[in-house]
Amino acid sequence: MIRRCVIVGGGTAGWMTAAALSKHLRGQVEITLVESDEIGIIGVGEATIPHIATFNAMLGVDEDEFLRETRGTFKLGIEFVDWLAPGERYIHGFGKLGPELDGLPFHHFWLRAQALGESVPLADCSINTVAPRAAKFMRPERGMQNSPLSEIVHAYHFDAGLYARFLRGRSERQGVQRIEGKIVEVRQQEDGAIAGVVLEDGRCVEGDFFVDCSGMRALLIEQTLKTGYEDWSRWLMCDRAVAVPSEAVAPLLPITRATARPAGWQWRIPLQHRIGNGHVYSSRFMDQAEATAILLKGLDGAPLAEPRHVTYVPGRRRKVWSRNCVAIGLAAGFFEPIESTNIHLIQTAIFRLMNLFPRGADSAAEADEANRQARIEYERVRDFIVLHYKATRRDDSPFWRQCRDMDIPDSLQHKIDLYRSSARFFRDDNELFGELSWVQVMEGQGIHAQGHHPFVLLRPADEVLAFVRNTRDVIARCVDVMPSHADYIAAHCAAPNLNSR
Ligand SMILES: Cc1cc2nc3c(=O)[nH]c(=O)nc-3n(C[C@H](O)[C@H](O)[C@H](O)COP(=O)(O)OP(=O)(O)OC[C@H]3O[C@@H](n4cnc5c(N)ncnc54)[C@H](O)[C@@H]3O)c2cc1C
Repeated sequence: MIRRCVIVGGGTAGWMTAAALSKHLRGQVEITLVESDEIGIIGVGEATIPHIATFNAMLGVDEDEFLRETRGTFKLGIEFVDWLAPGERYIHGFGKLGPELDGLPFHHFWLRAQALGESVPLADCSINTVAPRAAKFMRPERGMQNSPLSEIVHAYHFDAGLYARFLRGRSERQGVQRIEGKIVEVRQQEDGAIAGVVLEDGRCVEGDFFVDCSGMRALLIEQTLKTGYEDWSRWLMCDRAVAVPSEAVAPLLPITRATARPAGWQWRIPLQHRIGNGHVYSSRFMDQAEATAILLKGLDGAPLAEPRHVTYVPGRRRKVWSRNCVAIGLAAGFFEPIESTNIHLIQTAIFRLMNLFPRGADSAAEADEANRQARIEYERVRDFIVLHYKATRRDDSPFWRQCRDMDIPDSLQHKIDLYRSSARFFRDDNELFGELSWVQVMEGQGIHAQGHHPFVLLRPADEVLAFVRNTRDVIARCVDVMPSHADYIAAHCAAPNLNSR
């Protein structure tokens, strides 16, 4: 039986793992987390997708308390500006796209209406894409069945440093021991398994099982166990980021914004007390000075700190579990922040670890299964992200021309072909993003379906047109009665003393 579990790293990954394991292992396994104040955390990673609610629920986190403590805001989706072509924009919203009819997803009826000459934009047919345009937000009104107000789906933006602090508090109350110090050596047993980590002051922290949450350094999984890395830069050319916080400005948008730039894109994440900004770019096409200048020029408010620079190789660790060590977070790989998937991948890695938690030293079968699941999960998310770069009409810079002309994985090409032919999509291997996400991004990036499901033709044309127009009108009326995002936060989860911390 595993008795001592050591988590190396105290960023989002380390503290999420510590909070979850300490909750479930209830003191039966001694959990120690080692982190270095001198090295610190990466400090980006502030936008999420709705699945994080499952993680919070598992921990028993109160949503309002969590948002107050992390100065968080609500997120209804991601707005993509200039991705298809300069001047074009669309939103990938989390919620439903209109109601289903005759067992068919709404977008088939929307496509039929388009073919009949109707011009209602797809973006007018989801409350998650209409509300952000008016800077409005409320949580779903569960009592109002069949109303779009009951179908609002949200995620969060939060301050990464405060999130780690919030989870640290919970973890320590649940018995996790925190050791501050810089690891300078990793000791292995004769069979190669990790025995312990040695700190600068000579202390050695020993364990039976290790979770490598040391970020891109990957101290255990790569520097020690050398499991290898699969480089995906032929599809995902961005390999640098520069980040800077800026002053908060009104209105408070319930949405992450991603604006395409000549060699990458810029994020804008609104929090209660500031805006998180960053420019993700390809070093093959732009240098650091130019990327930083573009970032600063594109801010909505004054910068609040010096820009910070991040370098990465887009890809994934070939094995996330080797011997008595599992890598979670950036130590397991990093390929692209555009769809805010990395914190989600941390969450699924934690659930996977709990499902496959080893009984003792021999965990080869569990490791194989974890590595298999992680590979499939990463590849499916990768395809969705590559779609954003591939499906562009931009030809105004060498970066975008190369994205447009690149070869893509067969698995992605298959999805594009099927959608283009008849607007159909099937989820492979329980992949993260479902039909509604793919439809919005395909249409938003200019992959317009040429046909729709033939069963739509069983409905008279005027019924189809009325159905689509009515959907738009009901959503517009619902959004009219919603409060502003800022008012909603002020009423429910505003952080106290915003200027004092
Ligand atoms: C540009 C960019 C933007 C991103 N945006 C998003 C986003 O919007 N949404 C999202 O979901 N994800 C995003 N991510 C990913 C997200 O930032 C990470 O998944 C998340 O922050 C987890 O990081 P981590 O805990 O793995 O690593 P880190 O935060 O780097 O933590 C590593 C920890 O290991 C410790 N450590 C390292 N070496 C040693 C040592 N020798 N001794 C002791 N301790 C050590 C450090 O002190 C630190 O505590 C983004 C990533 C990048 C690069």
